Amino acid sequence: MFIEPKNNRGWIEVVCGSMFSGKTEELIRRVKRAKIANLKVRIFKPKMETRYDKVKVVSHDDNYVDSFPVDHSGEILRWIDDVEVIGIDEAQFFDEELPAVCHQLANMGKRVVIAGLDMDYMAQPFGVMPNLMAMAEYVTKVHAICMQCGDVAQYSYRFTKSGGQVQLGEKDQYEPRCRSCYIKGMASQQAGKRR
Ligand code: ZN
Repeated sequence: MFIEPKNNRGWIEVVCGSMFSGKTEELIRRVKRAKIANLKVRIFKPKMETRYDKVKVVSHDDNYVDSFPVDHSGEILRWIDDVEVIGIDEAQFFDEELPAVCHQLANMGKRVVIAGLDMDYMAQPFGVMPNLMAMAEYVTKVHAICMQCGDVAQYSYRFTKSGGQVQLGEKDQYEPRCRSCYIKGMASQQAGKRR
């Protein structure tokens, strides 16, 4: 479990993993602890991420913290005057300037907590996540449970090949899988079967 360092210098934390791995829950846990410590916190997310609710970051157990939807990562800099801890959810959907923005925030002495998908459904690094992981002081990889075999899962397996890298509001088309079940599934898809 991540224990936050106690200093006033800025730094970057990344919480990453597949779908259903509890990334947002971990982000919220950290932000809530900062609130308990009387720190001013704010969570941002990309405006396109509207699966559940436009204003709140909602995790699966309805554990929510208010958040600001923004069109572009640069907008974050306009809303952080007295904010000490900045959360960023669904970071993989942000534009490519997000790493520079996070760097700037940390240099200003702010703590930046980022949650995002590390890989897309093709098991490729997702958007700016690899850059953020490289720049962060702390990286935590959280894992889901493979729905095929019950092992630890790191892949977001998608049942259909249609559509692009991003498919929102269709969580029922995905399931978390371990390496071997993911590979089996992809091979079956290649062979033209559904699984
Ligand atoms: Zn498995």
